[in-house]
Amino acid sequence: MEPGFPGFAVGKLERKMGIRGSPTVALHLTDCEVPVANRLGGEGEGFALALRALDGSRPAVGAQAVGIAQAALDAALAYARERHQFGQPIASFQGIQFMLADMAMHEHAARLMVRHAAARIDRSAASAALESSMAKCFAADAAMKVATDAVQIFGGYGYTREYPVERLMRDAKITQIYEGTNQIQRIVIAREIGAAH
Ligand SMILES: Cc1cc2nc3c(=O)[nH]c(=O)nc-3n(C[C@H](O)[C@H](O)[C@H](O)COP(=O)(O)OP(=O)(O)OC[C@H]3O[C@@H](n4cnc5c(N)ncnc54)[C@H](O)[C@@H]3O)c2cc1C
Repeated sequence: MEPGFPGFAVGKLERKMGIRGSPTVALHLTDCEVPVANRLGGEGEGFALALRALDGSRPAVGAQAVGIAQAALDAALAYARERHQFGQPIASFQGIQFMLADMAMHEHAARLMVRHAAARIDRSAASAALESSMAKCFAADAAMKVATDAVQIFGGYGYTREYPVERLMRDAKITQIYEGTNQIQRIVIAREIGAAH
C-alpha cells in the first residue's frame, strides 16, 4: 500500500490503555485497487504468506511479554525487600515469597518457549505455527499474571502512577490481544495438535 492510492485513508490516532509510546491508527481501504507491481508473492499465495509472517511475528510479541514480565518481577522483588510491615520486610512473608516464586516460574517458562519458537524459525523449520502460537499465548498470559501480581505486591502504591507496575499491567494486556488474540492462538494450537480439523 502507498499513501497516494485512491480509496486509501489513515484513521484517527487512537487513545489507548497501554503501549502509549507507540502510536496506533486504523488504515481504511475503500474500493482501493493495488497494482500488480505491488503484490507480494504470486497470485493466490497471499493467505499462506500472511500465515508465515505470523509465525515470525508471534514470538516477537512473546518476547515483548517476557520483557514486561521480567520488569514486573524485578520491580516487585526490589520493593518486597525494601517495604517493611509488622517489623519485617514483606519479602520475609511466605505469602509474598510464593507469589514471587510463581512469577519467576512463569517468566522463565515464557522466556524458554519464546527462545524455542525463535530457534525453530532461525533454523527454517518446516513449520513453526504450533510453537509460535504457544509461545505468544503463554508469554502473554504470563506477563498479564506477573504484572497483576506485581501491582498486588506494591499494595496501594501499585495502583498509583508513582511506581512503574501499573503501566506494566496496562502494557501486558495488549500482548493477549494483538497478533491474534489468545483465543485465536488456542484455536491454532488445538488445530496443530490434531484436536480440531
Ligand atoms: C494497539 C493495537 C495495535 C494493533 N496493531 C495492528 C497491526 O499493526 N496490524 C494489524 O493488522 N492489526 C493490528 N491490530 C489489530 C489486532 O491484531 C486485532 O485487534 C486483534 O487481532 C483482534 O481482532 P479484533 O479486534 O477484530 O477482535 P474480534 O475478532 O472482534 O474478537 C473479539 C473477541 O472475540 C474473540 N473471538 C473472535 N473469534 C473467536 C473464535 N473463533 N473463537 C473464540 N473467540 C473468538 C476474540 O478472542 C476476542 O476476545 C492492533 C490492535 C491494537 C489494539
